[in-house]
Amino acid sequence: MIDLKDLDYDELTEYLVSIGEKKFRAEQIFSWLHKGAESYDEMTNLSKATRERLLQETYVSTLKIREKYVSKIDGTVKYLFELPDGNCIESVVMRYHHGLTICISSQVGCRMGCRFCASTIGGLVRSLTAGEILNQVIFAQKDVGERISNIVMMGIGEPLDNFDNVIKFLHNVNHEKGLNIGYRHITISTCGVVPMIYRLAEEKLPVTLTISLHAPNNEIRDTIMPVNHRYKIEELLKACKAYADTTGRRISFEYSLIHGVNDSMANAEELAKIAGPLHAHINLIPVNKVEERDFKKGSREEIQAFCKRLTELGINATVRRELGADIQASCGQLRKKVL
Ligand code: SAH
Repeated sequence: MIDLKDLDYDELTEYLVSIGEKKFRAEQIFSWLHKGAESYDEMTNLSKATRERLLQETYVSTLKIREKYVSKIDGTVKYLFELPDGNCIESVVMRYHHGLTICISSQVGCRMGCRFCASTIGGLVRSLTAGEILNQVIFAQKDVGERISNIVMMGIGEPLDNFDNVIKFLHNVNHEKGLNIGYRHITISTCGVVPMIYRLAEEKLPVTLTISLHAPNNEIRDTIMPVNHRYKIEELLKACKAYADTTGRRISFEYSLIHGVNDSMANAEELAKIAGPLHAHINLIPVNKVEERDFKKGSREEIQAFCKRLTELGINATVRRELGADIQASCGQLRKKVL
C-alpha cells in the first residue's frame, strides 16, 4: 500500500494519470492531504469511484497524538506522536514573536551516540518516511489550529542519516499547493555527517544548516560525539565552508555548554577562532540534564561569561532561551520515559 504523502507532486500526478485520473486531481488530493484529511471520504470533490480506486493501492497516513503537554510558562506544546507501527516520536511547537515554529523528528531513535543526548540511548529503530516527517507538521498544525511558519529538524534522529526522505519531505512541505513553507524558514541540524553536507549543498535548497558542534577541538569532541572519530573538525569546517559558498547561506553552530567539559574561557577563545572565518552564528545551549548521563550545566553567570567572551572576540553568539522547561520539551526525553 502506498502512502500518497511519500510521493512528491510530480510522482503523485504520474500515479493518478496511470490509474486513469485527470491531471488536475493531483492538485485536489495534494491539497487535502496537506490540510490534514484523514480519509478519502473527507475529499468531497472526488467521485465515489475515484475514492474506491485509490483505496485499492493507497491509504491516507495519520499520526495519533499519544500524549500532549502544554507549558504553563510559555505555551510550548509537546507531542508524543504514535506512528502506524506503534513506534513513538516527539515534536514540539514553540511560540516566537515571528510565529509558530515546529521542531520535528527525522528518525525513531538515533545511531549517532552523542553522550549527552537522550534520543540515542536505545539506538536507531528506523528512519521515518517522507510522509511521516511531514505528518508531524500537518497534524500539529491541525491540532493547534494556527499556521506553523517555521520548521527546525532538531527533534529525534539525524536528518542527514535519512537523506532521501528528508529531501522529499522538504520539497513537499515547500510546495505551493501544500503547506507552502519557505526553504528559508526551514533549518536542518546535523551532528556533522560530512559527505551528506556536500550532498545537501548540491540540492541547492536555501535551507539553513546548523551544526551541532559542542566542542572547539577534536580532543573534546571525540569524548562526547562518536561521529567525530569518523569526521574530524577540520573536515567538518571545510564542508561548512563549501555549503556556505554553494548556497550563499550562513552556517550556524549549536554549542551545548557542559560544565567542566567544554565551557572554559580557553574553550571560548578556541571556538571563536574556528567560527570567525565562517561568520557563523553560535547558539549556546545550557546542557539539559538527562537522567542516564552525568553532565551538568554551569551557572547562569558562567554561561553569560562564555557568551560575552565570544562576543568580545567578534563572534555573533546568543544563549538560547529555554522553552517548555516544565514539560520535558527537550528531544528524546518523552519517548524515553514512555519506553
Ligand atoms: N542529530 C541532529 C539533530 C538533533 S538536534 C543533530 O545532532 O544536530 C538536537 C540538538 O540538541 C542537537 O544540537 C543536540 O546536540 C542537542 N542536544 C541533545 N541533547 C542535549 C542535551 N542534553 N542538552 C542540550 N542539548 C542537547
